[in-house]
Amino acid sequence: MVITITGQDEETIMQYEDGAKLDPSQVGGGGGGRRGGGIAIGGGGAIVVVILALIFGFDPSAILGGDSQQPADPGGGQSTLQNCQSVEDIEKDRNCRYVAYTNSIQAYWETKLEGYQVTKINPFSGQVSTACGQASSEVGPFYCPEDQQVYLDIDFLDQLLSQLGAQGGDAAEAYVLAHEFGHHVQNLTGVMAEAQRDRSTGPKSAGVRLELQADCLAGTWFANEKNIADSPIGDFTEQDLAAAVDAARAVGDDHIQEQSGGGVNPDGWTHGSSEQRKHWLQIGYSTGDPNKCDTFSTDDLG
Ligand SMILES: [Zn+2]
Repeated sequence: MVITITGQDEETIMQYEDGAKLDPSQVGGGGGGRRGGGIAIGGGGAIVVVILALIFGFDPSAILGGDSQQPADPGGGQSTLQNCQSVEDIEKDRNCRYVAYTNSIQAYWETKLEGYQVTKINPFSGQVSTACGQASSEVGPFYCPEDQQVYLDIDFLDQLLSQLGAQGGDAAEAYVLAHEFGHHVQNLTGVMAEAQRDRSTGPKSAGVRLELQADCLAGTWFANEKNIADSPIGDFTEQDLAAAVDAARAVGDDHIQEQSGGGVNPDGWTHGSSEQRKHWLQIGYSTGDPNKCDTFSTDDLG
């Protein structure tokens, strides 16, 4: 199915399966989880920073010109996502595409990982309360291991990808979301807890290895998507893959450091360079095998 949105380049929109159902029960209430995880960016230690700074290692208001104070709008957006019943709804409400990504990614992990626990995405605007504490959209999409849910400000993500010079589009967004679900897999398998014992930063730190593995796991979903029964997403095209790789490049630490006007400082990397992120996304895609995503036992991180 070709979805045409006025003003949007069709090439940036993925193919969706005609008539496929969407499952909005995988959309949460936009936060409101128990308090007390103690989120404090810059003050709460590396664990919190690693969890929160899933795309960024710093406050991205630097990129966005400083005007980052948005009024809180708890739960903004989730009500419409809960009305997303089928792929056709994406034409009426473009945000329904996030339900399609979520359904497909989780359908994949349900078949791939024994004991996978289906979780929810929580769209929000401005700020959100999570089991990991209060967060704002400035941290980018993130996974909270305490409540095992994914949080994202959809409008902010769009803005962010474009600010970082990514071509964007559905496949780029789907990559970002698949990366967050990669963290969910890491949480379920215990890899996350293990990695977070090491709080160092830098190109070969445990934190970077954790992030690169999430990129690789995202790549395995891209590779296997066509085999997922009932996936609302059609086959990925070469353009889709290129858009995902381009997004991985755009969210590389070195690129973000450059964009924020500072020099490139590898010691401060928390997520990996553009090259590293592209490299591991491509390993995931080319092998289609999560077992090949062992970023912890290799010295060659790309
Ligand atoms: Zn991450």
